[in-house]
Amino acid sequence: MAPTSSECVRVAVRCRPLNERERAERQAEVVAVDAAAAQVVLRAAGGEAPRAFTFDRTFGPEATQAEVYDAMAAPLVESALAGYNATLFAFGQTGTGKTHTMEGITAGGSGSASAAPPELPAAAGIIPRAFRHIFAAIGASADQTFLVRASMLEIYQEEVRDLLAKNPTARLELHEAKDGGVYVKGLNTFVVKSEAEIAAVLEVGKRNRSVGATLMNQDSSRSHSVFTITIEAAAAAGSSDVGGSGGNGGSIRVGKLHLVDLAGSERQGKTGAAGERLKEASKINLSLSALGNVISALVDGKSGFVPYRDSKLTRLLQDSLGGNTRTVMIANVGPAASNGEETLSTLRYANRAK
Ligand code: ADP
Ligand code: MG
Repeated sequence: MAPTSSECVRVAVRCRPLNERERAERQAEVVAVDAAAAQVVLRAAGGEAPRAFTFDRTFGPEATQAEVYDAMAAPLVESALAGYNATLFAFGQTGTGKTHTMEGITAGGSGSASAAPPELPAAAGIIPRAFRHIFAAIGASADQTFLVRASMLEIYQEEVRDLLAKNPTARLELHEAKDGGVYVKGLNTFVVKSEAEIAAVLEVGKRNRSVGATLMNQDSSRSHSVFTITIEAAAAAGSSDVGGSGGNGGSIRVGKLHLVDLAGSERQGKTGAAGERLKEASKINLSLSALGNVISALVDGKSGFVPYRDSKLTRLLQDSLGGNTRTVMIANVGPAASNGEETLSTLRYANRAK
């Protein structure tokens, strides 16, 4: 179950359908997805040659949430259940489908705290599908006991906020642990015993995110949100061995899964950003470029130096990027000609990460 280096980082591109406004404007579709060839072709304006990019996977406008989950997220959940760390990012310009991919419809059947709805809605995204997957696996396991914890934070202008705190505007600091890891001091972490409980945690975090953004007059598309699920597994009393590989019966395995909805990657310059907005844009771009540098260093693998310390996001995720972990990046794009430039920049960013 330990990832090999070739599967350590996987990159996919997902293109959403034209939206109503784009259809009303009769926007040309400039993105063609060839899922079989894992290719995306961007038709350029003004007679330039089209550009083709190849990724590990590509998803066109017709791709379902279930397909995206099964191909990109399910292996990470399996990994976390087996005691490895994993991180999944949604990257892209605002409005291209990051939150749709990560969350989609989340609060399926409200009501009963114990029984999960029999089937998730088709629009449910990666996070609710991961919840279902994890608790189904735990329910089916006879020889292990599990402890699942959830936390949720956001990073806005290099400041960390706990989305599960009573005061959603308080800032938290990153600290170095004795073992070299990094942790968020004072971050709330909740033990969750069912799919319904962890879904309720997500809803609290989402609400706090928008309440905090309103209180502080901030645009939440400018922040990174990180939902973290920690899964501890131990041999159940009476069973012989957790890992099945012998030698360490009685030990506890811990896997961590980070599900990250990144800030919008759009450039701010051309819209005349000034003052606070410009400062904000440069910090957003700083952490997105720091992330790009970390992933590209991991993929490249030559230098041995990975610049984790360059942003809060990469410091925070240090123990879940590279090494014995799995990383997935889903780069989201829109098909319309009017977004061509941003789409090209997203494809280039993703291309560097594979
Ligand atoms: P982002 O989080 O990147 O800003 P959203 O996820 O909010 O973008 O998506 C913007 C809009 O497009 C939403 O109304 C969303 O439902 C819709 N959308 C995004 N991706 C898809 C898709 N693959 N299929 C259908 N609608 C989509
Ligand atoms: Mg969003």
